[in-house]
Amino acid sequence: MKHVYGPVSSWRLGKSLGIDLLCSPGKICSFDCIYCQLEKTERITKQRQDFVKIPELIEDLKKALKETTSDVVTLSGMGEPTLAKNMSEAINEIRKITDIPIAILTNSTLFYDRKVIDSLKKIDIIVAKLDAPNSELFQKINRPVKGIAFEQTLENIKKLREEFVGKFALQIMFMNENKEYAKELAYIAREIKPDEVQINTPTRPCNIKPLSVAELDKIEEHFAGLNNISVYHSTKPKTNPLDKIEIFRRRRKEV
Ligand code: SF4
Repeated sequence: MKHVYGPVSSWRLGKSLGIDLLCSPGKICSFDCIYCQLEKTERITKQRQDFVKIPELIEDLKKALKETTSDVVTLSGMGEPTLAKNMSEAINEIRKITDIPIAILTNSTLFYDRKVIDSLKKIDIIVAKLDAPNSELFQKINRPVKGIAFEQTLENIKKLREEFVGKFALQIMFMNENKEYAKELAYIAREIKPDEVQINTPTRPCNIKPLSVAELDKIEEHFAGLNNISVYHSTKPKTNPLDKIEIFRRRRKEV
């Protein structure tokens, strides 16, 4: 698999050039979310390790930057990007070759690790996941690896938000399982004080049915006063991907 893919058309980030720090044919993640477009987590872990060689990644990125334009370079890919132990080195090297803002899509579970926090503080946009307002739903929806608890994850999100000076967005996936908890999630969102709340529902093929436009609009009412964007009401830019096969491989990954 290639380290760089896209640019993909993202409803929340614009034209996004994806960087895969895992480059694994099967998903590696600390969650096994019931709605994941990448299907079942092949390796569920919170153990960080190096998955790719940074010089090779940078060569791929240099080539991509010559051939295309994008609004943002996004750390995402085949699982949870903070699992890559060399994420900090990757960010440093990306910074050396481009001024394009760097974003990350993360499930927030590794925010207990100081090294992860220090790396994240070097990027421009954090999109942090929170789908549940309590431990029971957290287990039911996100199915975390052993050792990841809801309460601690929430505390760590709040701490990082306080420390982070870039744009901090909170991404919430709504579905039948948590739609009755929108009020509780909105209360938590107000405590976190994100720069943006991204209200989402699984619109791509997966085992979970998406909520309707009317249902998601109703949910959004609970978030009044926060800076919200909703998957049904956001526009996506036109893009011309460099390699359609790489997009196809990852086509079900949420961007
Ligand atoms: S949706 Fe994201 S966090 Fe959840 S299992 Fe898939 S890759 Fe991991």
